[in-house]
Amino acid sequence: MNILMLASEAVPLAKTGGLADVVGALPVELARLGHDVRLALPRYAGIESTSVKLTQASKVQIPWRGDRLEVGVETGTLGGGAVPLICIRYDPFFARQGIYGEGGRDYPDNLDRFVLFCRAVMEACKQPGRPPDILHAHDWQAALAVAYLKTLYRNDPAWAGTRALFTIHNIGYQGHFPVSTYDTTGLPWSEYTPERLEYYGQVNLLKGGLVYADLLNTVSPTYAREIQTAEFGYGLEGVLQTRKDRLFGVTNGIDYNVWNPATDPHLPVRYSAGDLSGKRECKRALQAEMKLPVRDVPLVGLVSRLAFQKGIDLIVDILPKLLGLDVQVVALGSGDPSYQTLLAGLSARYPDKLAVRLAFDEPLAHRIEAGADLFLMPSRYEPCGLNQLYSLRYGTVPVVRKTGGLADTVVPYAPDVRSGSAATGFSFEKPEPEVLLSTMFLALRVYRDKDEWAGLMQRGMQQDFSWQRSAKQYVDLYERALAVEV
Ligand code: ADP
Repeated sequence: MNILMLASEAVPLAKTGGLADVVGALPVELARLGHDVRLALPRYAGIESTSVKLTQASKVQIPWRGDRLEVGVETGTLGGGAVPLICIRYDPFFARQGIYGEGGRDYPDNLDRFVLFCRAVMEACKQPGRPPDILHAHDWQAALAVAYLKTLYRNDPAWAGTRALFTIHNIGYQGHFPVSTYDTTGLPWSEYTPERLEYYGQVNLLKGGLVYADLLNTVSPTYAREIQTAEFGYGLEGVLQTRKDRLFGVTNGIDYNVWNPATDPHLPVRYSAGDLSGKRECKRALQAEMKLPVRDVPLVGLVSRLAFQKGIDLIVDILPKLLGLDVQVVALGSGDPSYQTLLAGLSARYPDKLAVRLAFDEPLAHRIEAGADLFLMPSRYEPCGLNQLYSLRYGTVPVVRKTGGLADTVVPYAPDVRSGSAATGFSFEKPEPEVLLSTMFLALRVYRDKDEWAGLMQRGMQQDFSWQRSAKQYVDLYERALAVEV
């Protein structure tokens, strides 16, 4: 199949979250399965400091506010040459410090930025006589490409027969913009209706992806069901209910080339399920790095965006009680300034027990996954979640809320099932501090039972969440998209 993928971030070029991990790995795996995949991204300034080398290839003209605008197209490859990259260069929009914003605030011209990106991809990726079979767009930033395919480019021979798959990585981020900016999209006003792009008097880009795509998916089966309900749908549950026959769940894989304790270059010592002595070394090194007493004590790790979604408020709430026990906690996170202040305040109060690093620090994220005994992930909602998958692979037992991908990937420990248990972690349902705290108490009790704990670690480390499995499911979806009636 000939697949054109569009997204706003991909490892190793640009990353703010799990979307980048997925978009960095999926195309490479699809290429390995024999498909022809191209990946289109904006050309951010930060790309210069990565290992990916881009070269100026051409320029394209795009319609822009009643006029034409010239943008650059740079090319490179991903995955050792397996996947051609197409980067849209327009420095006034993309040569900035942030990807979506700075200092916790979104850029005010984000609509313009992603209109330009999607429109330029539609112009730059035409291959005469060879329309892509599939246009695969991720999240609101790429959603307009699907809308363009089905409207402005409907009769363009360069796109004849192309079907669209739209992937929702997080329905909490929809790209809402004032109606006064609608003209920037270049779409006719006939598309600005409640059935299409209009949403309570605003433009909703994610909704565009949902209504125009031939097929939809999200990143776990449970989240695919959850977003059809008012509790999780962020106002789009009705739209999704009407398209439920076209909505699927594909659990993300993880990149075992990057997240593998046996080869991870960020770790002081490497280890595997067969020999865990290196993990003990990693724990001591992490305690030392984070200036905690180096001793034998359960070590709890947290790596997260500091956002309400991630249940950070629950963690902040239970920390004083949790730290009353003989435990240590290492937290790495960036995001909401109010959580940053709360965490920093707590670590000043408990310097021997809680170490906090307020940053986005990928190498440290690896060392926490390796050095911690337990990993905390009490998300209010979690489309898939990657950190619990990394934790499983690193023998770090996850404690998660039973929602979305967390429910699909962590088998919860049940105190009454000992031998023959399939458990790989701990989970709880109600997003309330007391419930999280009692789950932590249970986990810490089980931690003292060395055999039981070793079983949890070993089972976790043996789980297969490779991309190969997920990529095959995406191929099935592409085939289905080519077969559906339009
Ligand atoms: P989300 O995409 O909602 O943030 P995921 O669990 O799907 O959550 O993916 C988060 C990704 O971002 C993981 O690869 C995780 O290691 C990484 N990450 C999150 N916060 C940080 C941080 N402060 N420093 C380094 N990596 C981080």
